[in-house]
Amino acid sequence: MTTETAGGPTGPAARPAPHRVVIVGGGVTGLVAARQILRDRPETTVTVLEASERLGGQVLAIDVDGVAVDVGAEAIHLGAPAAADLARALGLDATVIAARRGQSVLLTRRGLRPLPAGVGPTGPTRVGPVLRSGILSWHAIVRAGLEPLTRRRQAADVAVGDFVQGRFGREVTDTFVDPLLGNLHSGDIHRLSLQATAKQLVPVAESGTSLLLRALRKPTPPPRRPDEPAPLPMFASWPGGLGALVDALASSLEGHATVRTAVRVEAIGRTGDTWRVDTGEGPVEADAVVVAVGPRPAAVLLGPHSPATARALEAVDTASVATVVLAYEREAAEQNPVLRDANGLLLNSSQSGVLKAMTNMSRKWPLGHPSWHIVRVSVGRAGSRVAVDLSDAQMIAAASGELATLIGLNATPVFATVVRWPDAMPQLTVGHPGRMAAARAELAGIPGLHLAGSAADGLGLTSTIASGVQVARTLVG
Ligand SMILES: Cc1cc2nc3c(=O)[nH]c(=O)nc-3n(C[C@H](O)[C@H](O)[C@H](O)COP(=O)(O)OP(=O)(O)OC[C@H]3O[C@@H](n4cnc5c(N)ncnc54)[C@H](O)[C@@H]3O)c2cc1C
Repeated sequence: MTTETAGGPTGPAARPAPHRVVIVGGGVTGLVAARQILRDRPETTVTVLEASERLGGQVLAIDVDGVAVDVGAEAIHLGAPAAADLARALGLDATVIAARRGQSVLLTRRGLRPLPAGVGPTGPTRVGPVLRSGILSWHAIVRAGLEPLTRRRQAADVAVGDFVQGRFGREVTDTFVDPLLGNLHSGDIHRLSLQATAKQLVPVAESGTSLLLRALRKPTPPPRRPDEPAPLPMFASWPGGLGALVDALASSLEGHATVRTAVRVEAIGRTGDTWRVDTGEGPVEADAVVVAVGPRPAAVLLGPHSPATARALEAVDTASVATVVLAYEREAAEQNPVLRDANGLLLNSSQSGVLKAMTNMSRKWPLGHPSWHIVRVSVGRAGSRVAVDLSDAQMIAAASGELATLIGLNATPVFATVVRWPDAMPQLTVGHPGRMAAARAELAGIPGLHLAGSAADGLGLTSTIASGVQVARTLVG
């Protein structure tokens, strides 16, 4: 029996046969998959191959005058059980920090307004706060109130924007779903698949349940059982940023797996039952390979073995995005009500110029800079080349200028930098779930070849964590 050491992959030996597994991609998906395989079958020889010089993929912090600022993912949703379980198992529950209470502001027909309580990426889940906010017109409220009458059973693979619009009308969709869900995915809500981007609504669509009646009847959650762990904050990070998650995952592999950075996988070949993973540093042999990279490199690696996977991945468009970090002298910045009181600013896609959203980092997280107030501006969405084509200087000028105009900020940045994420955001559009099911069915018939990550299983850390756990369980059997 193997015993658990702090942060180490553990668990009783489930299968006697040693197994060589190569994981392509050292982002969160690949690291979680590696850890889970070793927990479920500790005798497995696991090698993680990462093309860049660092682990973490789209989790990255930069140093801004001595303060770590996340420029990729900046918050993890620990309301999702797989993410909360992982945080606890890695011992990260002790140091977790919650995003400071406070809403983002929306640019509405009435100007900037706080996002009403209970509004999530797919729209309001509570009625009262939206009614009281005055954000929606009376016409829109009446239209939304007809939802119990207009609801119908639908196939789940519809566009998420079309689904919400069909239920609640256009104003609700434009006011809430476009700025929230559209920005999360950097995409067009009238193309993104409900099934791929809002799985929790699949049973609602298929059964024709009324969301409005459900919201009005929402039962009070049962009290916590004595044996249940204390809940973790819904939106969380750690001191120094989300890199703590990557570091903890990497430490959990130390001494148990081989983790190589600056090794790009160029091709995957097969001789009999053995897979050969070709890299610039020479081949690595494996009995199983997990591909946990973006859709384009994954299509190149898996396509020669699985035409259905090639079709599914090649159909996934990607959005290139960028993060502009801006710092202002605190005194000047905090005279501005938005920077003082709101966690961010969200725009509808038709309202955005270069800036599509702003995260008010110094308010949302305890960054601890002695005199600067730091924000990050998100740039770029599907179908736009702005995050690729603008120079750093152009992007900074546009982002800071638009922010100043939108929130009435009377200060100029004392620091600015740009981090680009080309082709980072897979667009899981209508049709993707079906194509991916066909890909998975074909892969299931090819022993030892596996796909994981956001192009397959959805964007965001909670989806990628669940994807990494799931692929490990499939592989270990
Ligand atoms: C700007 C931005 C903000 C975001 N904000 C949030 C947020 O606040 N909350 C949230 O939950 N999510 C957020 N996300 C999304 C989230 O970060 C990602 O969904 C998640 O990190 C993806 O993890 P992954 O491991 O699947 O992929 P990646 O992080 O892309 O990792 C894939 C890895 O594979 C490597 N690789 C690629 N090709 C090869 C090859 N041929 N050989 C070897 N290695 C290769 C890459 O270098 C990379 O390290 C954000 C993303 C971005 C870009």
